Amino acid sequence: PELFQPERVNSKGFDLTHAPTLAAIDTARAPFMAHHWQATPLLAAPCAPEAARPCENPAGPADPPGTVAFASAADVQTALAHAAPWDAPAQARAKTLGKAADLYEAHFGELFALLHREAGKTLPDAVAELREAVDFLRYYAANAPDTPPAGRFTCISPWNFPLAIFTGQIAAALAAGNAVLAKPAEQTPLIAHRAVQLLHEAGVPRAALQLLPGAGAVGAALTSDARVDGVAFTGSTDTAQIIRRAMADNLAPGAPLIAETGGLNAMIVDSTALPEQAVQAIVESAFQSAGQRCSALRCLYVQEDIAPHFTEMLKGAMDQLSMGDPAQLSTDIGPVIDAEAHSPIADHIAKARAEGRLLHEVRTPNAGHFIAPTLIRIPGISALKREIFGPVLHIATFKASELDGVIDAINATGYGLTFGLQTRIDDRVQHVSERIHAGNIYVNRNQIGAIVGSQPFGGEGLSGTGPKAGGPHYLPRFATPAPRRATE
Ligand code: GLU
Repeated sequence: PELFQPERVNSKGFDLTHAPTLAAIDTARAPFMAHHWQATPLLAAPCAPEAARPCENPAGPADPPGTVAFASAADVQTALAHAAPWDAPAQARAKTLGKAADLYEAHFGELFALLHREAGKTLPDAVAELREAVDFLRYYAANAPDTPPAGRFTCISPWNFPLAIFTGQIAAALAAGNAVLAKPAEQTPLIAHRAVQLLHEAGVPRAALQLLPGAGAVGAALTSDARVDGVAFTGSTDTAQIIRRAMADNLAPGAPLIAETGGLNAMIVDSTALPEQAVQAIVESAFQSAGQRCSALRCLYVQEDIAPHFTEMLKGAMDQLSMGDPAQLSTDIGPVIDAEAHSPIADHIAKARAEGRLLHEVRTPNAGHFIAPTLIRIPGISALKREIFGPVLHIATFKASELDGVIDAINATGYGLTFGLQTRIDDRVQHVSERIHAGNIYVNRNQIGAIVGSQPFGGEGLSGTGPKAGGPHYLPRFATPAPRRATE
């Protein structure tokens, strides 16, 4: 399959500068802004889930979005016993996935409300997320292979892209004809439940797509059963290692693990960079989605000669960011997902404050799991021992003669997801991008928001197994390779 497919177009999305569009969004969201959703397992046979529990709104306890009944151990067995590959020609599968994309678009009001209220997503983030989900459906549909499916695929998705990554994994597995067992993040089961309902409504058979909401135990059961033929996972590097070991012990040798994991992403700004452009790219990369993207910028290197002035500009731009209700268009930064995510970030900031390294901090609303956009001084990226998954940017300086040392330090983290470079020197673009180990390199722009079909997304080293999502090599991993003929 080609990367460029003239017959397939990405979705248009929503123009948030257009007043009638905003009014249409408000009208479509309104019935769902106080709605209570109820998620349960969606299996191909009757289920016997655990007792329903409340779902949390990360922006504040006063507005719970609904309840979820987690899949029981018996439900996992039921799902495995009733899973059946999608026995339809590739073209028919593609048509059904295309219909699901249309249904997602038709239900934008409800999906935005869910993204605000269950995942704390701002309106621009919700718009981008719906677009990406729809693009994944259409992109994998357009490439649905005729090769036999791998069989039963477990898809485990994260809360930070509860619609886009959840949909991307299962769309790829379904396009290849697999039976999917989908385990969404325990923080965001309501969005997943609604998405699977829409996929079923479009015509995906229930035996080919079953939903098992739950915590780690459900994921563990679904990655350590010999009836599973492959696993797609997006989440932490540590969890990916646990899954890899469980698969090695229990699944057939060679069962694929497609993992997208963490990053410790850097950007280099040299003294020739356009400051206004660089500041905007940095603010978006570090703070959009409250920094809860694995692509987000964590460590900024600024060339020493421009650092004092540049840092002042950056602080000024940070002061313009507003935090609060994710549903309001005026909100730039929503909450982090929950208390468990909040506390290590808050501890990290408190430690930097105690050590006198806190350069800047924006104010925080009271209710909800908010973290103020924060700037922390560090000597270099090696001072960061792990990914801080929130709106916290670290800044270091370098001299022109130290550039190669900075590249080595970035590579030495062992991660390799995104990287940003701001420079007006062409030779430097070539020099740096040849040496940096990163899946996605962005020059003179932000380093988040890869676009399906034109910017396949994924990393190397500790950041993932490849192949990249939204690119031509992803789908074949979900299919059985065509048998080789004796003459080959
Ligand atoms: N694909 C997203 C981006 O380019 C990041 C995905 C993730 O955080 O897992 O920003």
